[in-house]
Amino acid sequence: MAETLVLIEQDHGQLKHSSLHAITLARQLGGEYALLVLGHDLDKIAASLVSYGASAVIVADDPALAEPLADRYATVVAEVARKRGAMTLLGTSSTFSKDILPRAAALLNAPMVTDVLAIEEKDGAISYRRPINAGSMLATVKVEGERRVLTARPTAFEAPAADAGTICPVERFQLDAASLPNGMEFISREQRQSDRPDLTEARVVVCGGRPLKDTQTFESLVGGLADALGGAVGATRAAVDAGMVSNDYQVGQTGKIIAPELYIGIGISGAIQHLAGMQDSRIIVAINRDPDAPIFQIATYGLVGDLYQLVPQLIDSIRRG
Ligand SMILES: Cc1cc2nc3c(=O)[nH]c(=O)nc-3n(C[C@H](O)[C@H](O)[C@H](O)COP(=O)(O)OP(=O)(O)OC[C@H]3O[C@@H](n4cnc5c(N)ncnc54)[C@H](O)[C@@H]3O)c2cc1C
Repeated sequence: MAETLVLIEQDHGQLKHSSLHAITLARQLGGEYALLVLGHDLDKIAASLVSYGASAVIVADDPALAEPLADRYATVVAEVARKRGAMTLLGTSSTFSKDILPRAAALLNAPMVTDVLAIEEKDGAISYRRPINAGSMLATVKVEGERRVLTARPTAFEAPAADAGTICPVERFQLDAASLPNGMEFISREQRQSDRPDLTEARVVVCGGRPLKDTQTFESLVGGLADALGGAVGATRAAVDAGMVSNDYQVGQTGKIIAPELYIGIGISGAIQHLAGMQDSRIIVAINRDPDAPIFQIATYGLVGDLYQLVPQLIDSIRRG
């Protein structure tokens, strides 16, 4: 069986743990799999990946790959897949993989299935279950041909266990930096400095909606509750569009997909496009003054009342322990 190639995501030396969930899908597909990581100064990251049962950790390490420019990354990913004869190229659904893998699929002339939730095998043929219509329906799809590119929903596949007893080799991929595409130029990076955990990796996420009104109120109530619980902050598109927070906080169909242990929605109606990004959370708490708000239909616990009264009380009682 041909090897599967799993794209692992890192950002300036920080491993994105959610990208490891694609390994679980690789294991379910069967056969050998190799892990591929791109960037610069990757020794530490490579060393942290050797115990995940892969046949090899392949490292494309070059100053030309220090920033994730999609045209360069896709070229290298496709080249590694071709050279290794990998028939399945796989990553975790994320902003990063959305940027890189469709381009790699085009370079490989391979079909792509995104947001895979599960696989089904019948008579030796594999089909993939994936959400459509903002998660309100599931489709089961097949692809033609041998080579395929997939992304796995991290919330549908557990983080893989590492086994310190088995260690695979690290192989450097020799690339010719001068021949990489130059259509994109890295100009600058704006990074939000925050002590809060990453939204897609946090165990607790507090999300705020339209009635939070402005940045200051949003920060004191949503941010305050998140800080009291050691969690991350998220928002609905209504809150983003109103300028309360930047769009990297958005949770939902056109934002981030999250599945924390605990999700708290404050002043959020529960539109289908928002639910598409958080409905796999383990415990869902909704705070809304409208008892008929749709979010209560999926909430584990609901608090009906005015958020301006309830949230300060919650923050206060958590802080007092
Ligand atoms: C193509 C498309 C993609 C989209 N993608 C996304 C997406 O990725 N993420 C997303 O979130 N949305 C997305 N949307 C928008 C989505 O349809 C909703 O408009 C949005 O989620 C609503 O946000 P909200 O719940 O904050 O606001 P509203 O729907 O206005 O709800 C506010 C809620 O707050 C309650 N409330 C008001 N005041 C108080 C108070 N004082 N105390 C307690 N409760 C109060 C109200 O009862 C209400 O239920 C998308 C829409 C489209 C068309």
